[in-house]
Amino acid sequence: MKYISTRNNKKTFEFKDVFIKGLGDDGGLFIPESLSKYSETEISSFTNLEYNDLAKKIISTFIGDFMSENDLSNIIDKSYSVFRKKNVVNLIKVGDRSVLELFHGPTLAFKDIAMQLLGNFYEYYLNNENQKINIVVATSGDTGAAAIDAIKGKKNVNIFVLHPHNRVSSVQRKLMTTGKDQNVFNIAINGNFDDCQNLVKSMFADKNFSNEIKMSGVNSINWARIIAQSVYYFYSYFLIEDKDRPINFSVPTGNFGDVYAGYLAKKMGLPINKLIVATNQNDILHRAISKGSYEVEKVAETISPSMDIQIASNFERLIYDLNNGDDTETIKVMSDIKEKGKYIIDHEKLDKINTNFLSSKMSEDEILKTIELVYKKFDVVLDPHSAIGYGAFDKVNITGNNIVLATAHPCKFPDAIKNAIDLNAELPKELIYILNEKENYKIIENNIDEVKKHIKERI
Ligand SMILES: *Cc1c(COP(=O)(O)O)cnc(C)c1O
Repeated sequence: MKYISTRNNKKTFEFKDVFIKGLGDDGGLFIPESLSKYSETEISSFTNLEYNDLAKKIISTFIGDFMSENDLSNIIDKSYSVFRKKNVVNLIKVGDRSVLELFHGPTLAFKDIAMQLLGNFYEYYLNNENQKINIVVATSGDTGAAAIDAIKGKKNVNIFVLHPHNRVSSVQRKLMTTGKDQNVFNIAINGNFDDCQNLVKSMFADKNFSNEIKMSGVNSINWARIIAQSVYYFYSYFLIEDKDRPINFSVPTGNFGDVYAGYLAKKMGLPINKLIVATNQNDILHRAISKGSYEVEKVAETISPSMDIQIASNFERLIYDLNNGDDTETIKVMSDIKEKGKYIIDHEKLDKINTNFLSSKMSEDEILKTIELVYKKFDVVLDPHSAIGYGAFDKVNITGNNIVLATAHPCKFPDAIKNAIDLNAELPKELIYILNEKENYKIIENNIDEVKKHIKERI
């Protein structure tokens, strides 16, 4: 498979470039040059596969000669051996819908599923290349922990994680900052997540700097993450018994990465009816998908911090599709968004979006009420992000097999859970020790030069 950038569809890349670069040199996002669809027969031949075997089938179509089938197979088995569930994820019935638990990995959020794999991809790549790289990543709370767990202690790679100071939960922070590995560096930026993301973007854009430190990225725009995430859409589809009714997924959304993975699964032929983009009050994607108004507003701090985002980076991949693969048009839209903070989607394109995507928005109070209702009625504790996904089905009112992606373990957000149902959401026993460990992070101003200096001094 060959890849192109959303901002230049003439030049092609191999999976290796796409994986290591993360973002294109032209600022665009990598996508396959063309995508072949599985036939119905092929899809049904996957029905009884274990999670790892399904992952091997799907991921192997995307990586070309990056590694042999055998190496991929070993790496997938190794990556998923650290999960607390044999088949990585777990589907439970909660009332009239199903909840797909994606948080059984080492850092208790769905991001582990892609990140563990990426960590082992890096290790494989660096063993063969004999070079040292530096991963720099911005996090709204969960990516950082997942990336650190995946990279810690690995040879020839350092990881620098920028999180917004005081805007992640204390459990999220401790999962990042209590490790003792020499190749992990935590930076708390005095700013919000978008500030952190912008700092990382400008470091990438500064070619002198990024080449000098051999910078690599694992943000949710990294294509390798997307393909790893598309696997659980397939896997949960096969767990649904009554396939005559349409299958819908509700996805708690921030950067549009996870829900894009669902869209990719649909493009590969998985019969998904609708994908619901479920947002908190930072609702830029809800405004875009329901009214055609993609307009950047101020980020509000919420009890679902991993979704406190106004610039949904992966949305560019959808914009490229909406423009029928026209890179010039995509560049124009993206520069409008950058300059005017705004993109008005016309009716025709909006109709196109709505054949695949619906959206919803939830206030803080509604989130707490949803957590309470689900707990009282079904004895299930949802974290605030997953509650947004759960409640979305009441807002869009759609029938069928409705699957909610549960993206984080409730214990990552103990204050919200306490507030909603007066319960202490406990960490799994193997992680309780982090609560009393010493933390290690440096607070830095939202200033690109200071951040660069800090990183250079440590490599
Ligand atoms: C990252 C995250 C999200 C948002 O996922 P995107 O791919 O950025 O849309 C939702 N919930 C949780 C718990 C997360 O960590």
